[in-house]
Amino acid sequence: MRCWFCQSEARGTCAACGRALCHEHAHAHDELTLAKSDTSTGYTSYYNVYGALKCEDCRLEWRYDIPRKES
Ligand SMILES: [Zn+2]
Ligand SMILES: [Zn+2]
Repeated sequence: MRCWFCQSEARGTCAACGRALCHEHAHAHDELTLAKSDTSTGYTSYYNVYGALKCEDCRLEWRYDIPRKES
């Protein structure tokens, strides 16, 4: 597999978009938080990825769902 941005051999993939990245084009993130929401139960779970690779082309959009208390 080759890097998405150049013709070098890929060393990993972007944690966010999944594109293949060489060492030069991969940016290591200290911590990456990914959220997964289950629409059937309404629960949102988060997990942290430490040392995740991230490419320079895609963007992460941070969204927070704040549960409303209805009483
Ligand atoms: Zn590259
Ligand atoms: Zn990416």
